[in-house]
Amino acid sequence: MEKIKRQTMEILSAEWVIPVATPVIGDGSVVVDRGRIIAVGKRADILCKYQGIEERRCDSVLMPGLVNGHMHLELSHVRDITPPPAENAFTDWISELITIRQNDTVTRSQVVVAFTSILLDQYASGVALVADIGNEFFSELSGQVSDGWPEVLRLVECLGPNRQAILTAKEKISNLSDRYPVCVHAPYSTGPDLFVYSKQRCRRLGHLFSVHAAESSAEIEFLRFGTGCFRNFLEKRKSWDGTFSFAEEGFAGTVFYFDHLGILDEKTLLVHAVHVSEQELSLVAKRGAHICLCPGSNMFLGVGKAPIEKMIKAGILPALGTDSPASNVTIDLWREMKLLAAEHPRVAHESILAMATLGGAQALNRWKDYGSITQGRRSQIIQVSSPALKRCTDISQVVRQLVTGGRPNEISWISTIN
Ligand SMILES: [Zn+2]
Repeated sequence: MEKIKRQTMEILSAEWVIPVATPVIGDGSVVVDRGRIIAVGKRADILCKYQGIEERRCDSVLMPGLVNGHMHLELSHVRDITPPPAENAFTDWISELITIRQNDTVTRSQVVVAFTSILLDQYASGVALVADIGNEFFSELSGQVSDGWPEVLRLVECLGPNRQAILTAKEKISNLSDRYPVCVHAPYSTGPDLFVYSKQRCRRLGHLFSVHAAESSAEIEFLRFGTGCFRNFLEKRKSWDGTFSFAEEGFAGTVFYFDHLGILDEKTLLVHAVHVSEQELSLVAKRGAHICLCPGSNMFLGVGKAPIEKMIKAGILPALGTDSPASNVTIDLWREMKLLAAEHPRVAHESILAMATLGGAQALNRWKDYGSITQGRRSQIIQVSSPALKRCTDISQVVRQLVTGGRPNEISWISTIN
């Protein structure tokens, strides 16, 4: 038994090992065996403990693969969409997106080509796992993906802006196989009944529940007063029937509204969370729910910046997501980290790196496999190098370069003997 183990075991060593869940190790090593991490520590200690095991010297940095907490792969082909002129015109962007999709001359296979290209690039950039939200079925995204792609956690998105639409959505969900996780689009597009119904299904099946939440001030205005661009948008589309009239019950914020519906728990992921109060963040932390930040998308749509310092103060480690090309100029988690660091100079670089790795793994409920170089996790480790990284002489320089330097020149996957 010991002999078999030793044949498949390998030591990976580098100048810097960044486990994320524990402090950075200078001159560190990771021991991997059949796709799992079995030890991590100082190189000298590891070589002493694992004598006779083959060692591979890696360049610069070893770190866990990244996790993209929010994408819409079915929108991978959308290009040149206009950002809304102001936050209270958020629905202009939605209208344009709907028009593009309705008049789409793009074939299904072209959409597949577009998202395949994005997934390949995600993997090349060091992304190990992505959460994908979509309305349409693509068999290419279900089941095992081929080598060279990240693992795709696909959630089927539902909308229900009025009573009839909610009935239709419920019927669609009830006909869906239990293997497909369902999520809800947003509180401005979906009435409370469908939130409760979908979340109950998620709880029954142990699925993750994701929702766009507190993304724009227009959403808050609509939920609080029933007015603004979302009301106009629904009326124009003949979708308004008063399903969203909560004004008489009082509306204190999207998170409080969700808590009132009973949908906040450790398998609920709130995407964007730009317009949230400290009290709401305390509640998110108390319920063990998660947040996924999309700084690039927020900038594109002009909805503001999420209160990240307050999230960290509340004990929340958010995930990071790119969203889709319909609301972001580049689909690249390294750029999201750089943007976040520039927008929030007081947030520690270590925290931002943790958001792109461990935060995503925790938010998607996959921390046992991804997000850190820790004993028992999958050996989804990337080797990262660049001329700037090679010039770094201490740990803080290395982490700063990774977070603020954009996508490094050289990223490669450390494959292990299985
Ligand atoms: Zn989104």
